[in-house]
Amino acid sequence: MSKYLNNVPFSEEFYEYAKGLEKEWSKSLPKYTDEELLLIFPEAREIIPQKITEYREERKECIENIKEFREKVSAIASEEKKDEFFEWFWRYLYPKYFYAPQVVKLDKHLFRLKRQQRIISGENKKNSYVTDFITLKERAKQQSFVDIALPYLEKIRRTGSRITALCPFHEEKTPSFTIYIDKNTFHCFGCQANGDVITFKMKVENLTFVDAVKELAL
Ligand SMILES: [Zn+2]
Repeated sequence: MSKYLNNVPFSEEFYEYAKGLEKEWSKSLPKYTDEELLLIFPEAREIIPQKITEYREERKECIENIKEFREKVSAIASEEKKDEFFEWFWRYLYPKYFYAPQVVKLDKHLFRLKRQQRIISGENKKNSYVTDFITLKERAKQQSFVDIALPYLEKIRRTGSRITALCPFHEEKTPSFTIYIDKNTFHCFGCQANGDVITFKMKVENLTFVDAVKELAL
């Protein structure tokens, strides 16, 4: 396989195809909310405060360095000679330090960590409804797509583990709405609508995510 791939000049078509694969792959990666992360990985409770302290110290150090650097800048700026060092300084060093990208990065991390910290400290009142909703969402997802969708479909035809029907989301004469029974998902080749049972419920009854989950799971 790798030998084969090594010898093939990749065509534009191949890269188009690979782009699709990449999208599919990145969709399959786990995406958790901070609330979910903290439930899945309780050890984070100890790591987060440590990281906050660590980053705060690092930030302080950065700020000190920048202050020092800015003082040097004003000293250099007042110098008369414009040599190579002068060029290099203004072109490379100045933008690198002056806008403090490291501090910006640290602030971004700190922002997220502090949010997670707030979830931990407020967890006693919050935790139960978050867990409850995660359970509801899972239960909603498990509902049979076919059962939920059937009342909205016409010209239904089953072939193996797929069902095709007229799409309830756009006008069409021939069926292109496809249900993948095993995966409990759908895709419409006419309007490209796709998703799972929650998506379907949201779209077909014009519900919010929370309401769709509740309707399906309760
Ligand atoms: Zn459609």
